[in-house]
Amino acid sequence: MAVDLHTHSTASDGSDSPAALIQAAAALRLEAIALTDHDTLAGIPAARRAAATAGLEFVPGTEISCEWEPGSMHLVVLFLEPVSGPLQDRLQDLQAARDARNERIVERLHQLGIDVSLAEVHQEAGEGSVGRPHLAAVLVQKGVVESIPAAFDELLAKGRPAYVERERLTPEEAIRPGAELGGGAGAGTPSHSGPHLIRRVRRLLRATRRRRTDRNRVLVR
Ligand SMILES: [Zn+2]
Repeated sequence: MAVDLHTHSTASDGSDSPAALIQAAAALRLEAIALTDHDTLAGIPAARRAAATAGLEFVPGTEISCEWEPGSMHLVVLFLEPVSGPLQDRLQDLQAARDARNERIVERLHQLGIDVSLAEVHQEAGEGSVGRPHLAAVLVQKGVVESIPAAFDELLAKGRPAYVERERLTPEEAIRPGAELGGGAGAGTPSHSGPHLIRRVRRLLRATRRRRTDRNRVLVR
């Protein structure tokens, strides 16, 4: 049985719309697919409709970017429905915080004498959520910097003049509400991981397992 439990659509940084992604999965004869866009459940309804049409089992989810000093940790949460709930509401708060952060980055750029508007950045992002890569792309188009890596190196990265701190969830905040809702979580792509990350995730997952229902699975990769 072939499944893919970690995918991104245009609702975050993927290249296919949720429906196109499901159609591609059906063409590859997958039997189940999860949509796990970064920090958002916005693509779930469209993906679910497409999966029903294609006869594919569908798992709603998200990939949450968590605080994990000195880097960050990406945590895949599965079986999370796009309804109001503790984790979903936190994701909405974080979306609002991201919008405010983008505004502050644009203000910093103005203070540095670089003329970029939020409208230009939104246009670059299309329908997905707006972030620093889109800002970087606009800076390249305007000839402010030579490349996207240069935009980060010179302006947008931590410690550079247009950097603005980002609000993130801790891994505990991301796992607990999901577990209370009957969701499952698995560590996605931890950067700067180490033995104590593994121990901490295991401990959290043990607490999660006690609460999971038969329908749900807890995955660690
Ligand atoms: Zn991912």
